[in-house]
Amino acid sequence: MRLVQYILKNDPQGMRHLGVRVGEEIVNMQSIRKGVPNTLLEMLTTHKNFLDEVETMPMDQFKERVTINQVNLLPPISGSDKVVCVGMNYVDHCEEQNCPVPEEPIFFSKFSTTLVGPFDPIPYPKMTKELDFEVELAFVIGKKGKDIPISSAMDYVLGYTTAHDVSARDWQLKKNGGQWLIGKTMDAFSPIGPHIVTKSEIPDPHNLAIKCHVNGVTEQNSNTGQIIHRVDKLVSFLSQFCTLLPGDIILTGTPPGVGVFRKPPLFLKKGDVVECEIEKIGLIRNEIV
Ligand code: MG
Repeated sequence: MRLVQYILKNDPQGMRHLGVRVGEEIVNMQSIRKGVPNTLLEMLTTHKNFLDEVETMPMDQFKERVTINQVNLLPPISGSDKVVCVGMNYVDHCEEQNCPVPEEPIFFSKFSTTLVGPFDPIPYPKMTKELDFEVELAFVIGKKGKDIPISSAMDYVLGYTTAHDVSARDWQLKKNGGQWLIGKTMDAFSPIGPHIVTKSEIPDPHNLAIKCHVNGVTEQNSNTGQIIHRVDKLVSFLSQFCTLLPGDIILTGTPPGVGVFRKPPLFLKKGDVVECEIEKIGLIRNEIV
């Protein structure tokens, strides 16, 4: 099942909707059952059983639909309590930097105000001069958990989405006392989407082609098979420290090819178009404005 949040282009009030994407069309959740929440976060928090039920329903029976070009897609999940990222989590990305593979996951975080839709613009922040790109596989937590054993970790995963971990390298690496936070959490620094693909459709998230194109040139090209600390391990490990909540997003790290390690470095500028793409999930496209 592919979950989307959207507004109708012809709705002056811009009311938010939650839907199931079927090909080039969307079935509104509220046409499946009246009165259910119109955000994925609320759906996960109060109507998770309904969501599980929808997954088993044949969508053919729901004729009330809009087409994808009638809507503006929002981030498929928003208002998350946590947006957690993992650094140095691809074997080939560590090799690129001549760094040993980390024995434990390296976590950092972004605020949920970084989340934007799959085709939204990214305003060039006035505070940086070194804007960089990172395509990442992200997964979304479906239910609350703490101290989750690795054997049941996947029960807590709702599904997967394509993410862009936009980064301001000057603030990440040279300023702010070595803390990555500011360099990673400027507004619009986490475009995600175009939908969340529930985990039943992707039995193995560690065998997906993952690419990033800048102005049509492929700058990152790898496979999620290069991921060091895998989805179940990340869920289990992180939950030893903090309670995971429905809607939490975890970005699993980026493959090689990011701009900062090029000689000379390749940083983004206004007008650049970044496309992040993951096999079986989809492509997001964001222009720097
Ligand atoms: Mg990253």
